[in-house]
Amino acid sequence: MTRKIDIFDTTLRDGEQSPGCSMNSQEKSVVARELVRMGVDVIEAGFPVSSPSDFRAVSEIGSIVGDGAIVAAFSRAIEADIDCAAEALKTAARPRIVTGIGVSPTHMSDKLHMSEDEVVECASRAVAHAKALVDDVEFYAEDAGRADPQFLLRVVQAAVDAGATVIDIPDTTGYCLPDEYGALIKLVADNVRGIEDVKIAVHAHNDLGLATALALAGVRNGATQIECTINGLGERAGNTALEEVVMAIRMHGDELDAYTDIVTPELTRASRLVSRITGMSVQANKAIVGANAFAHSSGIHQDGVLKSRSTYEIIDPAEVGAAGSDIILSARSGHAALRHRLQELGYSFADEDFEGVYERFLEIADQKKEVYDEDLESIVQEMQREVAAVYTLNALQIQCGDPLVPTAVATITDEDGNRTVVSATGTGPVDAAYTAIDKVVGIESDLQEFAVKAITRGIDAIGEVTVRITASDGRVYNGRGSDNDIIVSSAKAYINAINRMIQASRARS
Ligand code: MN
Repeated sequence: MTRKIDIFDTTLRDGEQSPGCSMNSQEKSVVARELVRMGVDVIEAGFPVSSPSDFRAVSEIGSIVGDGAIVAAFSRAIEADIDCAAEALKTAARPRIVTGIGVSPTHMSDKLHMSEDEVVECASRAVAHAKALVDDVEFYAEDAGRADPQFLLRVVQAAVDAGATVIDIPDTTGYCLPDEYGALIKLVADNVRGIEDVKIAVHAHNDLGLATALALAGVRNGATQIECTINGLGERAGNTALEEVVMAIRMHGDELDAYTDIVTPELTRASRLVSRITGMSVQANKAIVGANAFAHSSGIHQDGVLKSRSTYEIIDPAEVGAAGSDIILSARSGHAALRHRLQELGYSFADEDFEGVYERFLEIADQKKEVYDEDLESIVQEMQREVAAVYTLNALQIQCGDPLVPTAVATITDEDGNRTVVSATGTGPVDAAYTAIDKVVGIESDLQEFAVKAITRGIDAIGEVTVRITASDGRVYNGRGSDNDIIVSSAKAYINAINRMIQASRARS
């Protein structure tokens, strides 16, 4: 294994583009810290020209990451985009500008209305412009998977000649078959002058469920950078999943002549973190990080695994951080024990913030005796959610049963500190609570999805509710809330989604 494969994480750019997954800059910073802990080589932090909040996020991540990773900013092959990316990257110790243009017939004629010559000229100018601003410039040939291979070579040659340090050959639409895509990477590796000094990157989408296979085919044929996202988040069916390619390379390093520097025991935590922050659940049978990824239910399999794990398990759960921990805190655990455990989980707090975490911890410990790591993560993330809240639920009182009329009394504070007490009736307790919240917020939205799940073990587990709402403009927002009481979780989740909706519309204006 001699080839180091760079892991380029685009959860904060391509991943964030998927419906309902937008994150505010504070949430992006939390994800960026986890990406650094995990050892990714490049963090694509956003698309600065797209909105003031994206610009801010890129620049904040630049200062948080330091020299822990390269921080990349996305742009189109437009000078204003590139200038804006460079400006946002001023805080980064190792900045990279990512720029590029569509190279497939449909992108050139239907989207760009440009001839082949114009596209080559534009690519070359964009790379040269970026190169004048930073040393590290990545050029992407958008929709390369459906491009004429000979024309692709021409564009890539122009980008390399103009000084690109990385060439990304994306299958933007997830259209290719793996061997076809591998051949395209090989064509570039074998036919572009000067390519030996340039990194070739693969970027695939999962429209045919092939995103991981495409990335690996690329690696086999000369690519040394994989662009991917946590949980495979991303446009449409998503991007290549980071955890999948990393573990595939780990299992087959010799055949692929490849390794990565990813700290694999972080994979499960990173997955949970991104899932909680975006409100996008991970399917139970998802490879590597799904809840069932290491569960055995058939009798034959259980028997085999009990005799020897390797009979039906290719990965030791501990290798990806899924083994769970035996450390259980209780109400008797003091400040030091809690702080220590949180640090081990990767969270550190200033003293004034820690007090709030400790108080919430005591409440949970009083209610459920044993507090697991998952509970702690839920407490921390709940608190991180609250900081950016427009509306906060202070209290919720519910009356329901048979034959009562379900009634909710909610106390809600807005960001200016105005406290409102409202009551409402509904068809059930959740409906009553949501109607009460609607009365305060006064914004139209449609509830699309509502799901309850127990985070930890036992009947006293914390219940987590995920909701999906659609705003009047058709945009989708996810929200999450957790509490011992699932009606309270439901109300928190709904308010969380509404807060996201309001923040996103402010960020756009
Ligand atoms: Mn993409």
